[in-house]
Amino acid sequence: MRAMIFEGVGRPLRAVEREIPSPGPGQLLLRVHACGVCRTDLHLLDGEVEIESPPRVLGHQIIATVEAAGEATETAVAPGDRVGVPWLGWSCGECSWCLSGRENLCPKARFTGCDIDGGMAEYAVADARFCFAIPPGYPDDQAAPLMCAGLIGYRALRMCGEAKRIGLYGFGASAHILAQVCSSQGREVYAFTRAGDDATQAFARELGAVWAGSSEQAPPQPLDAAIVFAPVGSLVPLALAAVAPAGTVVCGGIHMSDIPSFPYSALWQERVLRSVANLTRADGREFLALAPQVPVKTRVSSYPLQDANEALADLRAGRFTGAAVIVP
Ligand SMILES: [Zn+2]
Ligand SMILES: [Zn+2]
Repeated sequence: MRAMIFEGVGRPLRAVEREIPSPGPGQLLLRVHACGVCRTDLHLLDGEVEIESPPRVLGHQIIATVEAAGEATETAVAPGDRVGVPWLGWSCGECSWCLSGRENLCPKARFTGCDIDGGMAEYAVADARFCFAIPPGYPDDQAAPLMCAGLIGYRALRMCGEAKRIGLYGFGASAHILAQVCSSQGREVYAFTRAGDDATQAFARELGAVWAGSSEQAPPQPLDAAIVFAPVGSLVPLALAAVAPAGTVVCGGIHMSDIPSFPYSALWQERVLRSVANLTRADGREFLALAPQVPVKTRVSSYPLQDANEALADLRAGRFTGAAVIVP
């Protein structure tokens, strides 16, 4: 099969021919139809999130069909069924985190496209227990961004509670999905982008944002919550300044540049600053049930497998709105 592999920090992915992997006990062999590109992939390439044992196939937003199941695999899916594979590829099921509904924090967790080979390839294997059924109405490429941008974004939104006015800092793959969810729930979205990024601000308004502006601007009225998707620590004090007393600021990414110091008064009056990490399978089931009801429509730019480096470069440079998807 063809695959794009990560070999080391700062190096582009390399196209290789590999044996089709065989599924072990509990695993499915999957034929990949689409794999979303995520900002986390840039953090992996740059070494900000470590890949312990390269070479590694990146890609953790996989839409695939089942080809075969390994020995002793208990699964409700059959060959030909469509499944999705998210970032959380395995958790131990035994630790206090796993046993308390927080498998996203399992210290032994293994992540797709980081600890386990991912979806930037023609085939992949995945633990059957960590695969999701995909809502039938979505074409493969449009379903792919739901798998991380959508469902980790949704977890971040849940951390905002009942907030009515929500600020989204960084209007990329996650925010373009969340804006639609928020609007359908009667919330108001305030979209913050890089200064002068008129195209993205227009895109945000098109998706229901009631206001769009640059991150340095104050919103027209105080927000109830904000989610910072851009990996830029200096946005955190700005987001805290934009939320009302008791407002929550959620950092939605896996890595962020350092947060500059800020006066305690920015946090005072019961403002909350927190991160969101990974996902649980419950998040995935909940979000994938919700997405077709909204209905969430994703905007995707598709790239053939051999152009994965170009997709990553375009993501880094902000050359598309919405999400990038690799189609093997
Ligand atoms: Zn991701
Ligand atoms: Zn665990």
